[in-house]
Amino acid sequence: MNSSIVKEKLFINGQWVETENTQKIYNKYTGEVFSEVCIADENLVDQAIEAAEFAHKHTVFAPDYRYTVLMRTAELLKENIERFAKIIAQEGGKPITDAKAEVNRSVSTIIMAAEETKKLVGEIIPNYNHQGRFIYTIKKPIGVVAAITPFNFPLNLVVHKVAPALAAGNPVILKPASSTATIAIKFCELLEKAGVPKGYIQCVVGSGSTVGEQLLKDERIAHYTFTGSPEVGKHIKRTIGLRKATLELGSNSATIVHSDADIEKAASKLAKMAFAHAGQICISVQRILIQNSVKEKFMEKFLQEVSLLKVGDPLNPQTNVGPMISEKEAERIEQWVKEAVDEGAKVLIGGKREKSIYYPTVIMNARKGMKVMDEEAFGPIVVVSTYETIEEAIELVNDSKYGLQAGIYTSDINLSYKIPYLLEVGGVIVNDTCCFRADQMPYGGVKESGNGKEGPSYAIQELVETVTVVVNIEG
Ligand code: NDP
Repeated sequence: MNSSIVKEKLFINGQWVETENTQKIYNKYTGEVFSEVCIADENLVDQAIEAAEFAHKHTVFAPDYRYTVLMRTAELLKENIERFAKIIAQEGGKPITDAKAEVNRSVSTIIMAAEETKKLVGEIIPNYNHQGRFIYTIKKPIGVVAAITPFNFPLNLVVHKVAPALAAGNPVILKPASSTATIAIKFCELLEKAGVPKGYIQCVVGSGSTVGEQLLKDERIAHYTFTGSPEVGKHIKRTIGLRKATLELGSNSATIVHSDADIEKAASKLAKMAFAHAGQICISVQRILIQNSVKEKFMEKFLQEVSLLKVGDPLNPQTNVGPMISEKEAERIEQWVKEAVDEGAKVLIGGKREKSIYYPTVIMNARKGMKVMDEEAFGPIVVVSTYETIEEAIELVNDSKYGLQAGIYTSDINLSYKIPYLLEVGGVIVNDTCCFRADQMPYGGVKESGNGKEGPSYAIQELVETVTVVVNIEG
């Protein structure tokens, strides 16, 4: 192992803690060791929860100071964009240009959360049938929040959970994805520098099956904010009983290309977004539905654009598609494509693997019952199908157990207003792909894509308790 690699410590109760037990994190492109991270045992996780509970019950984290801490953190992150992006590119395999975009987005997500500290207002409830009572609501921090995060946006999804939770005044226990934990630790270093009070942020690294499970079972945790696979999301729901959870899960998102759209523009953008971060985005374009009459025009441009995508080293600014998170995941995609082909699907481009790199792959003639169609692929593959009428296209989009986002390209203004009512998804993107997210928008799915909304001003509402106060003003 490279001797310059330092042991990354855990952050518990305002202290950096070194452990005997460590885990190596690898560079996802070169396969070399990138970092060595301490692992929390049962006792340390317990200490983290205890410290968070103590902070919640016995210390004050006033709104104006929350604002100061978050704004300082945003400033510090801004000064470290290049360094943070390089970490994401190496331990996460994300192309450096996209990694920089992620860090920039994280800066603005923190600022948006900071602004929310000024907006946590209650209401005065009209008193029309109970004279003599003054009724109002206050918003209190909900309590200890556990943030469990995935590998694919290892910084911005940490920020989407930690920043609103702190803005609401809650202590947070962060359990990042094991394969990309370094960037989460680096983010906690910035929070510490920015002056976050003792006990308000803890970072405990360890596997989902140990550290994650312990967090789920501990009744001192009031709220879970989770982004990850539907499988783990369902498990969380079953385990935590009546305690609350925000669950951002997966999808096999679709984009419709209607014949009245700008077909060339749609084809170019779809070629880029179907393979961004090697398809490892929860709203990645997995299904393209193209109206039959424009199929040929679309496919010609689409395949040409896909063939131009640069595949390879994430640190090269020209790279569009980097490695998948592991060779095992690339092998899984290879197997799914093989199964589909065995059952009659056709690979038009790609279908090739080199270690953890899977080449951008376009599939036609896939049908229901095939994994590439029904399950979340979370890899660089896209399935193209055709339809005759818009009603048929809507039925195809909705014929999924998931419902995160959908896209539609059309110049029909009436259709663009009508279709959000007909699609069973949490977000509809008109004249762009389903793979669009602005950090300020309410973001979250229906069906097996989860529940609750993220976006700082929406997330914070789930991270406060609304308490009703009734004052008998005649008593
Ligand atoms: P996983 O569900 O495998 O892991 C997510 C997090 O949960 C990790 O920190 C993981 O830990 C942890 N975890 C695993 N098992 C448990 C458990 N039993 N108890 C508690 N925590 C556990 O997802 P991935 O990291 O592979 O991320 C990919 C998934 O995330 C995809 O399904 C994708 O669609 C979804 N996603 C959804 C988004 C949305 O906003 N809707 C956005 C981005 C991704 P460990 O790493 O140690 O296994």
